[in-house]
Amino acid sequence: MSVDINELALPDGQIVSDPEEISKLSSDKFTEAIEETSQPLAVIQAKSVEDVQAAVKFANQNQIPVTARGAGTSIVNGSAAEKGGFVIDLTQLNKILEINIPNQYAVVQAGVLNSDLDDEVRKQGYFFSPDPGSKRISSVGGNIATNAGGMSSLKYGTTKQSVVGLQVVLADGRLVELGGKTFKNNAPYDLTDLFVGSEGTLGIITAATVKLLPVPFGNPVTGLATFNDMKQLSVGVQNISGSGLYPSMMEALNKTSIEALDNLEKSDLGKGGAESLLIFQLDVAPAGAVDALKKILAKSGALQVNVTDDPDYAKKIIKIRQDYYQAEAAYGRLIVEDVAVPLSKLPELADFVENLKFTSKVTAFLGGHAGDGNFHPNFAVSKEYAETPADVNEAINKIFKYVQSIGGTISAEHGIGDLKYQWVRPQLGADVVELQRQVKKAFDPNNILNPGRKV
Ligand SMILES: Cc1cc2nc3c(=O)[nH]c(=O)nc-3n(C[C@H](O)[C@H](O)[C@H](O)COP(=O)(O)OP(=O)(O)OC[C@H]3O[C@@H](n4cnc5c(N)ncnc54)[C@H](O)[C@@H]3O)c2cc1C
Repeated sequence: MSVDINELALPDGQIVSDPEEISKLSSDKFTEAIEETSQPLAVIQAKSVEDVQAAVKFANQNQIPVTARGAGTSIVNGSAAEKGGFVIDLTQLNKILEINIPNQYAVVQAGVLNSDLDDEVRKQGYFFSPDPGSKRISSVGGNIATNAGGMSSLKYGTTKQSVVGLQVVLADGRLVELGGKTFKNNAPYDLTDLFVGSEGTLGIITAATVKLLPVPFGNPVTGLATFNDMKQLSVGVQNISGSGLYPSMMEALNKTSIEALDNLEKSDLGKGGAESLLIFQLDVAPAGAVDALKKILAKSGALQVNVTDDPDYAKKIIKIRQDYYQAEAAYGRLIVEDVAVPLSKLPELADFVENLKFTSKVTAFLGGHAGDGNFHPNFAVSKEYAETPADVNEAINKIFKYVQSIGGTISAEHGIGDLKYQWVRPQLGADVVELQRQVKKAFDPNNILNPGRKV
């Protein structure tokens, strides 16, 4: 069907015409596993909800694929343009509409950056708990669409736990409100939750009501513990998890990750030859908690433990951990993976990944949200290769198969996007895939919303 794009009337927004801007908004630059990008029919910069409605309605009538784009930090090519489709750029829907402290929620437009909301509410003694490593560069809408996790998901849950209500443009352009302003709501089927993690395949989120939490009382305690290897570290993580201490962070780094971070940050985390490092935090530390934690770490085989309540030092450590991908990207084209297993299987997973061997020029890293059973096995491939070397692809396939064989998932927090599509069926089984397709069909009968992704 030939489409005359001039027939699309946007009340407030515009169709981008600058080729550089079109190319920037059509590709996911952080998805380094993808070597080619697709050409969209048009990139639409929405300035109002009505723009999103008009564009989606037009696309539905003309069977044009539509990709919602938050801040474009997807690592699975989820917000990159589909061939001949629309990209709807939501960055200008960036207003914090309401901060309601007595009722502990905020209402924000989808394009608001996570850290802009968090910084704003912290001025009033509250925080927005979802804290992906991309906090400063990703949007609240994108965080919701991917159910983003972060370091503090261990204690406060993934983005899902913070979403109270959503405003959504459906595939035919209708606008609906899901959920509400209360933290409990059993009136409807929970369609709000269904949209969390739906990766732009069910509708376009234009605004959200999100939960705010009061900043915990007292000073957090932050620490570093070294271990002989990632397997032993994982045992320590499991022991702390069952202790009742409720840490707000348990992050792991293997030797290559420590080296990469030390190189980037000019820090000395690897001083003394640390083979693996656990970064932990108790954001609420009652009397006796630190001693109890140290005892558990010692019993679990920790070699060295350092603990501080100095907030500046803690900030520095957390910043170092947040730079995990950036540090690794200095070693080549970075392929980021994201798997999770039941906690008791974490030592096995660590062992499995650390023992993979490569003949090509690649640096393998392992680290991530150990407390959630979630590791990022990442691979920096030498830029001299035009394509990903076969042994790296094989290693990734082996990890996925292994993770699925021990009851884990091939996507803990980054989503499916384009990259992991073929792994969904083996993990979910034909019946569940079919149910998912039926859900998708109910919301998007013409299959225009991010077709070929996720489901
Ligand atoms: C340095 C770095 C660190 C990262 N760390 C983490 C981490 O710790 N944890 C984690 O979970 N992820 C992490 N990510 C991945 C990424 O930042 C998250 O997936 C993030 O939630 C995406 O937000 P975004 O605004 O960039 O969305 P985009 O990348 O623009 O979109 C992501 C997906 O959501 C859909 N989407 C976006 N906005 C909407 C909307 N309003 N309505 C409907 N669908 C929409 C898109 O179509 C796409 O499928 C990291 C990425 C980088 C580059």
